[in-house]
Amino acid sequence: MPPFGMSAETWATQHPPYRCPMCRKMILTKVLISKPDGTPYPWFTRRSQLDRQARVTCPHCGQSWNYFAYADTGEITILGLVNTRRTAAPLGFDDHVRDNRSSGIPMSAPFKVSHRWVRKLEVQWEAAKTVSTASRFSSSGAEVERKVEQSLKASLWKSEESEQLAEDTVDAPVPPHRRLTVRVHWKEIWQEGDLRVRLPDGTVAEIPYRAAVGLVPDIENIEG
Ligand SMILES: [Zn+2]
Repeated sequence: MPPFGMSAETWATQHPPYRCPMCRKMILTKVLISKPDGTPYPWFTRRSQLDRQARVTCPHCGQSWNYFAYADTGEITILGLVNTRRTAAPLGFDDHVRDNRSSGIPMSAPFKVSHRWVRKLEVQWEAAKTVSTASRFSSSGAEVERKVEQSLKASLWKSEESEQLAEDTVDAPVPPHRRLTVRVHWKEIWQEGDLRVRLPDGTVAEIPYRAAVGLVPDIENIEG
């Protein structure tokens, strides 16, 4: 990838093969760089002074392209979830009584257990940091935060529903003449890590997040 966030097109006009990405003609002169509205930048404008949406125009064919690889298009790209780890947190329990006191043979009848839960996502914006540049992280507003959270949800979960039903089948054999309380401890599985994301202004940031991604039963058998 070209340095300085330059687009591949821009790079190819300033280094070998020095060609226009559109008409393929050789460009050996300085190219015209303009603002998105077409206003040309002065010749000696430094890269750091260009808008993210700056355009480069070919002196031969007059066609143009983005100076930067990630021009401000309002798009948010999830680059990956890093430093991922999982933890389990207790979320209550349900008791299921299995009575086999009146029988002389072991009882083994698998039964279904289910529990409702709500998917949650916590994004720690205040702990976010920039990784692409030395610039300070700024989330550039509630709209960006909302979009990032939407993209994160889409990559964590397959459906949109926040309310979920966890279901499982439990088989707890009960010996003859015994009664058993099957205690189903529900464990909420949390995924934690850093979301690596490219923000609309081209900044690459790492944002710590925590999300409830599943609910699993943990079985305890209690006599009586
Ligand atoms: Zn051209």
